[in-house]
Amino acid sequence: MKNLIVANWKMNPNSQKEAKEIFDAIREGVRGLKSEVVVCPPSVYLYASIFGEGVVAMGAQNIYFEDKGAFTGEISALMLKDLGVTYTIIGHSERRKYFGETDETVNKKIKKALETGIKVIICIGETAEERDAGKKNEVLERQIKQGLAGITDLTNINIAYEPVWAIGTGNNCDVAEAKEAINFIKSVIGSTTVGSVVPENFRVLYGGSVKSENSGSYIKEAGANGLLVGGASLKADEFVKIVQSAE
Ligand code: PEP
Repeated sequence: MKNLIVANWKMNPNSQKEAKEIFDAIREGVRGLKSEVVVCPPSVYLYASIFGEGVVAMGAQNIYFEDKGAFTGEISALMLKDLGVTYTIIGHSERRKYFGETDETVNKKIKKALETGIKVIICIGETAEERDAGKKNEVLERQIKQGLAGITDLTNINIAYEPVWAIGTGNNCDVAEAKEAINFIKSVIGSTTVGSVVPENFRVLYGGSVKSENSGSYIKEAGANGLLVGGASLKADEFVKIVQSAE
């Protein structure tokens, strides 16, 4: 199974020129490496002429769950598919926190992406308060079960374990704790209540303040099948080192 390494650029950078420079450097840096690499820029940069010839897959940071119509500001899965997008992140904690994303909207978006032929990377994770209250597993289980409600075939689904307190803070999750969460997520996915078609190589990624100094340990010690990288993915050299660490 290939590791899946995902760059989430969030709302950066501010120009096409910078975006192209980062894309070009990432594409050349990861050429020939074994992992599957997906770059998720702001949607205005999702066009093939920036991405080049398919070394790096195009990913969106979000989709809307309706096909078309009076939904000002939204972008449909069909539009993204038409641009050549093959992956989308769904349910990132910043979308849950700032844009009212719920397990219900996450569920609708996952269904729409799959129906459109776009693979998904679902973000789940507990806040610091939930962790302190001993509710981590409860939160993860709820996000998985409600997010995947009514979905039986998990073939094109990946889950990213992203503890909210570790995102963008520099406070990355302890490897042992990440391992425990990844194993827990796999056990929920493997239980009879979720998905009847679960691929043997179902991928669970880790995300949260990943840097090249810590990235390899999530793959080699915590058992993650990939990484979701935010801030560090905007520095091409650093991101390439992260991809190399997963070899
Ligand atoms: C993210 O955006 O999903 C993320 C994990 O960000 P960072 O790597 O900056 O913590």
